[in-house]
Amino acid sequence: MKNKDFDYLIVGAGLFGSTFAYRAHRAGLRCLVIDKRPHLGGNIYCEDIEGIHVHKYGAHIFHTSNKEVWDFVNSIVEFNRYTNSPVANYKGRLFNLPFNMNTFYQMWGVTTPAMAMAKIEEQKRLAVEALDGREPSNLEEQALVLVGKDIFEMLIKEYTEKQWGRKCSELPAFIIKRLPVRLVFDNNYFNDKYQGIPIGGYNRLTEGLLRGIECRTNVDFFKSEFKDGWRDIANKMVYTGAIDEYFGFRLGKLDWRTVSFKTRVEDMPNYQGNAVVNYTSHEQPYTRVIEHKHFEMFGQEVYDCPKTVISEEYSTEYDDGMEPYYPVNDERNNALAEQYRKLASQESGVLFGGRLAQYKYFDMAPIIEQVLGFEIE
Ligand SMILES: Cc1cc2nc3c(=O)[nH]c(=O)nc-3n(C[C@H](O)[C@H](O)[C@H](O)COP(=O)(O)OP(=O)(O)OC[C@H]3O[C@@H](n4cnc5c(N)ncnc54)[C@H](O)[C@@H]3O)c2cc1C
Repeated sequence: MKNKDFDYLIVGAGLFGSTFAYRAHRAGLRCLVIDKRPHLGGNIYCEDIEGIHVHKYGAHIFHTSNKEVWDFVNSIVEFNRYTNSPVANYKGRLFNLPFNMNTFYQMWGVTTPAMAMAKIEEQKRLAVEALDGREPSNLEEQALVLVGKDIFEMLIKEYTEKQWGRKCSELPAFIIKRLPVRLVFDNNYFNDKYQGIPIGGYNRLTEGLLRGIECRTNVDFFKSEFKDGWRDIANKMVYTGAIDEYFGFRLGKLDWRTVSFKTRVEDMPNYQGNAVVNYTSHEQPYTRVIEHKHFEMFGQEVYDCPKTVISEEYSTEYDDGMEPYYPVNDERNNALAEQYRKLASQESGVLFGGRLAQYKYFDMAPIIEQVLGFEIE
């Protein structure tokens, strides 16, 4: 084989590409990482505004029960004790999430699990009776049967309608399969063993993964010399861009869902007292407000930083040029993605990895788990 400059060309410096590059580099392999964005890190990239790490592509909370993954990320950068415990604001009334004894106390004043259970069961019974023997035929009926009227109306209905841009009565029932309720006073959103945010921000994780590796930003694979010439400089390629784009959209375009953010600086140290507040009524057009400093600043640190940065999150219809965030898992897109995956499996020397190339939603931990599972040579 001709002696080439690199063992791997890695397209995309997101978590998949960066973790792959880290492992290949440690194995003594030569990597070149390119990314079309002006920065490294992909969607976990944070922008520094007023000394606060602002999650530019949406709030990211690392969580896992996989000790190997947790030990791996902590070997790159230590994680803090952030625990996700969102609050819901419904017309000015505040409720803890996920649904737990605190929520039920706030909603009904009930103080014991038995009282909460009785309330929920009574409301569920009324919803089942209203169906008169029918199966739930839409999301509204399904949710009412699962948790009853009050939780549905105050915490699910209008939030879901903002997310999907359609009435709950017009959405299919299968979107909501389970709605877990906790009969304990526990506001920890995730059930995982480990969670947190890298101390110093996500960029520290990216920097640690890519240290000592040649990286080039502002390089779009398809508009660069690498598109036709990568085999001249590298033995293999890891491709983490969109799978349909790789094949020139020859079978058609895959659809995405997106979210848009309105970010602003507030001249006060503490805007909402929590990183995540969900707005569950139609009174506000946004679904959530993120106050970024609370991911990394605790106690007095919140007040030592005089300003704060908040992002309103809006559910938005996807259009060309927007950030592709969530794959659309309907029949057309699943079938089309499968056809592209078949083409990808015939492409020699190319590993298709990450959320865009696999056309699947992955949290960060499963992305790392996948990369740790590869034999890299
Ligand atoms: C809104 C939102 C919130 C999320 N919140 C969480 C969370 O709280 N917890 C959690 O665990 N996970 C969360 N995730 C998931 C997390 O973002 C992903 O697991 C992670 O980003 C996957 O990394 P990746 O490398 O596959 O993709 P990306 O981070 O998207 O990286 C792909 C990179 O490839 C580059 N690229 C694409 N095409 C080209 C090209 N042609 N040439 C050069 N470069 C190219 C892109 O610029 C990008 O930098 C969230 C995702 C979204 C969308």
